[in-house]
Amino acid sequence: MTAEQKKQMALFLDIAGDYLRDGYKRVREEYRFSDDFSYTPAVGSVQLAESAEPVPRVQNTDSLETIAAEIRGCSRCGLHAPRAQAVPGEGVKRPLAMVIGDAPDGGDTAAGRPFSGEAGALLDKMLGSVRLFRERNCFITNLAKCSPPGDRDVLPDEAAVCAEYLIRQMNRLKPAVILSLGRISARFFLNTGEEFGKIRGVFAEYRGFPLLATYHPRDLLADGDLKRPVWEDLKALRSKLMELDEHYALEIREGG
Ligand code: SF4
Repeated sequence: MTAEQKKQMALFLDIAGDYLRDGYKRVREEYRFSDDFSYTPAVGSVQLAESAEPVPRVQNTDSLETIAAEIRGCSRCGLHAPRAQAVPGEGVKRPLAMVIGDAPDGGDTAAGRPFSGEAGALLDKMLGSVRLFRERNCFITNLAKCSPPGDRDVLPDEAAVCAEYLIRQMNRLKPAVILSLGRISARFFLNTGEEFGKIRGVFAEYRGFPLLATYHPRDLLADGDLKRPVWEDLKALRSKLMELDEHYALEIREGG
């Protein structure tokens, strides 16, 4: 469905709802939708299809702070809730790894930090095992910056709208690699409906950045058997970073 079709449908439903409820039409902000992006069938490729590309309003004056301020004031999709704070992300300004989950959970929203709870503690351990740390060489964020109600999955429309901020963050941060966590983020970046187990652990490219998908720490908390594949993915990440960054490579070699 196109953005215009969605807008017309939403307007129609709102007006019908207003008249049924109160008999008059409320004034509301203009809707912003995006065209659906298509999940292409898996053909052994992980290139992003044209139609999946959100169009970022990249501005030369973008800074992480201005992007974060826009995110905190954003009401561009249905995940906006007036009394809940959006979570822009946190980390260093020139990260080796930009780590991207699907969305903050309720606890992250309350804390104003991504991955603040149990899954976050596990993520820190995962990253630490390959000498990555949110305070030193990572930036951690999510595809959607607001928490879906009941911690449900982020919908493709919501991801597509919010990805504009993510892409602006990427362009500013210029990470050496992107680590995508969980099936929702991976399917968005790789634009595929392929089974997640088949697309994780293989380096792809997103907007010129090397991207590796692995399981979300939440998946790992639910299923301890995923420890081994996650460790394999982290080793692949470590190898790629050693190729790309000599200081990191030296630190790994010295650390044994
Ligand atoms: S999820 Fe993203 S696009 Fe939607 S309201 Fe929050 S910041 Fe805005």
